[in-house]
Amino acid sequence: MEGDDEYNDGNRAFLQAFMARGTMTLREAKPILANILTIQEGEPVETVQITQEIFDSYLSAAQEALSSLDYDIRSTMHQVAKKRIWAIVNTTSDAMTQLATLHSAEEIAFVKRVLDAMFDKYNSPRLEAMFLDSMQFHQCCRAPAAAQAADAVEEDGEEGQPPQPSQQLRGLKSSEAEAMMQSMVDEGWFERSVEGCYSLSPRALMELHSWLIETYNDPGAEPGDWQRIKFCEACKDIVTVGQRCTERDCNVRLHDICEEAFWRTKREKKCPKCQTLWDGKHFVGERAVTETEAYRRSKGHRGRDGRSSGLMEQIMAPDEEEEEEEDQEHLDDE
Ligand SMILES: [Zn+2]
Ligand SMILES: [Zn+2]
Repeated sequence: MEGDDEYNDGNRAFLQAFMARGTMTLREAKPILANILTIQEGEPVETVQITQEIFDSYLSAAQEALSSLDYDIRSTMHQVAKKRIWAIVNTTSDAMTQLATLHSAEEIAFVKRVLDAMFDKYNSPRLEAMFLDSMQFHQCCRAPAAAQAADAVEEDGEEGQPPQPSQQLRGLKSSEAEAMMQSMVDEGWFERSVEGCYSLSPRALMELHSWLIETYNDPGAEPGDWQRIKFCEACKDIVTVGQRCTERDCNVRLHDICEEAFWRTKREKKCPKCQTLWDGKHFVGERAVTETEAYRRSKGHRGRDGRSSGLMEQIMAPDEEEEEEEDQEHLDDE
């Protein structure tokens, strides 16, 4: 049941199904491969008969077929769900260019603003959120250039300079931004949590891997300087949901799904770089906000779905130099 060595109709059918989805898990591949093998072998092949080994053989055949087209098949673990996800990744053109084939310049500029908010504005040594709640998401709708241009016209009246072509992006209406985000979720670029917060999907983390590092990390930083994009000490993939070293400027991060195996090989639960005790209570992602004292205390005053965007906004407010300690006290007072 390993299939013929030669690339055949079964391989072609599998690759087609894979490309249509963009990503695939073993669970998703099982019924597809069972159907393919049923046709090929002329007798029923059950889903339970499809092993990882069979899946692997189809993956490597697909990988070979794709390699001449500048595509590769990569895989990563979902940071929370602990399932392996395979994706077809373009190895030459950057992801933003790929998006251009399906979306308008306005839509792509909007996605860029969402990514900037996730990985720059709401990702600081104090608080590595790397997600957006609905309020922060809506703040990304309008293009900053359009806002500035509108102000300039108001000030200068008709004498104002006509906007440059690069400034002609106006941004999206709320409804357009929501529709765009929905299609990005459907295409597998973003995930939306039950709380309505957006974060990057495993597929996007694979596609944007190099782009995120190039865009948000400082190539001139000294080794050991805090960087925006950081990697799991165990699996080496990017961490947007997980645990962080207690030391604010230390770059060591761990996925929750990776920590058990990681600590099993260590004598003590200490950061491998700075030797600080690892308490497992410092987080990256939504818990960086929801596990704060200010957030938890406020939760008692609200209903089950009474998540306050305003409060999240306050907690996630970007650093103003060293005023952050004061901010924290201020929050605690409320
Ligand atoms: Zn990991
Ligand atoms: Zn450390």
